[in-house]
Amino acid sequence: MAFQLPDLPYDFDALEPHIDEQTMRIHHGKHHAAYVNNVNKALEGHPDLQAKSIEELMAQVTLLPDSIRTAVNNSGGGHLNHSIYWRNMSPAGGGEPTGSLGKAIKSAFGSFNAFKEKFSNAAITRFGSGWAWLCLDRAGSLVVQSFPNQDCPISAGLQPILCLDVWEHAYYLKYQNRRPDYVGAWWNVVNWKDANERFEKAKG
Ligand code: MN
Repeated sequence: MAFQLPDLPYDFDALEPHIDEQTMRIHHGKHHAAYVNNVNKALEGHPDLQAKSIEELMAQVTLLPDSIRTAVNNSGGGHLNHSIYWRNMSPAGGGEPTGSLGKAIKSAFGSFNAFKEKFSNAAITRFGSGWAWLCLDRAGSLVVQSFPNQDCPISAGLQPILCLDVWEHAYYLKYQNRRPDYVGAWWNVVNWKDANERFEKAKG
């Protein structure tokens, strides 16, 4: 069963004015679609790997054969990262996290604002293309970290809670070179319900 491009859980214009409709259409329909097509191509002739979920595949990416490892890292990572990114946003998003994630963020970073500053800084200072992440590490601690390109936190033993795509394709049509403005606007659409569900599941 080949991987499939998931539908967005909202309309393409639902995140306006923070993220514009044209960016969402191209980002989902062209960029994410290309990652799905390319990971499927890389896995042709590997039925054992095709049978795995994208999470299982990315968790063991370093063990894959040389001939496909880079392609799966880039395109499989692109598929998984974007699948989380869409669900991490909502037209009803923004504000501050409540529930167990809200408490854990305060405990780990001191306050929501301290976390927000740390996460924004990770997003803004990631050189070139990549992502900012909030993850749960193996010790059960929340960590903020950025990763280059489509490298996936799952491949580094981290469990993803919240992510922000800072590739230029995620913001250039509306924000051009002003990545900090995109990062600032993104906080208005953060889906804390989805992040909290990921956190609860990751804690086990
Ligand atoms: Mn992207």
